[in-house]
Amino acid sequence: MSESTMRSGPTEASLTDVPGLGPKSAESLASGGISTPAQLMATSLADIEEMGISRSMAKKLREGVIALYPDIYQNFAEEQSLEDIDGIGPTTAKALREKGMNILLLETTPVKELEERYGLTSNSAMKYQNALADAKGGYFTDALTFRDKVAKAPCFTFGAESLDDMFSISEYQTKGVRAGESYEFFGSFRSGKSQLCHQLCVTVQLPRELGGLGKKALYIDTEGTFSPSRIIQMATRLKEETGWDASIEDILANIQLARAKNSDMQMSIAQKALEILGDAADEFGLMVVDSVTAHFRAEYAGRGTLAERQQLLNHHLSILHRVADTYGLAVVVTNQVQANPAQFFGDPTQAVGGNIMAHWATHRCYLRKSKGEKRVIRVYDSPVLGEIESVFEITEEGVITSTA
Ligand code: ADP
Ligand code: MG
Repeated sequence: MSESTMRSGPTEASLTDVPGLGPKSAESLASGGISTPAQLMATSLADIEEMGISRSMAKKLREGVIALYPDIYQNFAEEQSLEDIDGIGPTTAKALREKGMNILLLETTPVKELEERYGLTSNSAMKYQNALADAKGGYFTDALTFRDKVAKAPCFTFGAESLDDMFSISEYQTKGVRAGESYEFFGSFRSGKSQLCHQLCVTVQLPRELGGLGKKALYIDTEGTFSPSRIIQMATRLKEETGWDASIEDILANIQLARAKNSDMQMSIAQKALEILGDAADEFGLMVVDSVTAHFRAEYAGRGTLAERQQLLNHHLSILHRVADTYGLAVVVTNQVQANPAQFFGDPTQAVGGNIMAHWATHRCYLRKSKGEKRVIRVYDSPVLGEIESVFEITEEGVITSTA
């Protein structure tokens, strides 16, 4: 260690003071704008890799920085990456990453898909997944630990109290939409499905202290009904009500939109989202698919194609589940209803998508139009919520609690 390092901190010291970091590596790092140990610590492994330094090398160098400044970096948590799994070397890691794989996704991807899509043998796929499970202390957790984890899952507001209350779980003292869980809103045309989705794209961005997650939203629009002007109206109301100081431009910019023109495109977009979230999971709190079934329903219309449709829809829905499971996003989908000629009593409509759709969401909710601007939402199926109803209104300002 040179004398200059002893005196200077990681923001002033030279890179070559770091043990194991020679002039050649320093040059590579400099080309990417890294000239101090502090910058080396603050840059992602992916970015460092782009400068021509492998992840394992970068990790070694960072260990060197930690050794040099133990007080400053004692709580530094190194990024986990594929190479950390026993048996995965740099070559396999690189090949997997090029196909969109990451360490979080490896855990939740079925072995069959790891074989077919990512080129692993089923033996290695299982070995890696076991290694991941072992690193977490095995497959089992006791229910008490699990309860604590579930209770701590962050939630965000609907931006309408009646809805937050309806979705409250008193045992966990949480309200609103829960991160890591899936929601289906089904109902007829104009029942308010897309309006709810729009509003959640705004409320998820609210800072924690105002009931949001402070995170961005992904929106897959299959019907072409996404409306920036609606976002502006909703954001304006929420800003006024809460004193939130975000700019309307930022709120819009924090919604990543993809327009799916057919079911194939919709499936590709979801798959892509699953992969790109690997680098941005912390930034996003919500993924919306509005509507999840419309293309499938239109493209596979005849009875003869039903089995194929259900198979594809099933695959698509499993990808959406994985977005929630892998990265902890709340996943919200909308679904249409169709007449059910077999039903003579009660509401003669049923959700599209059959059994596969029926079992997908954690919380399945039915929306229907009531008098005027009023809408009724009812929990149809949920492991924790009873079959409760709530009323909300859709106004110029968005989705609000019903006044009467
Ligand atoms: P769907 O369930 O078909 O997705 P939407 O969520 O798009 O239906 O709801 C459409 C309804 O939202 C409209 O019928 C209207 O009542 C209401 N709405 C949409 N935009 C506005 C607005 N700017 N001001 C007031 N109400 C609106
Ligand atoms: Mg709609």
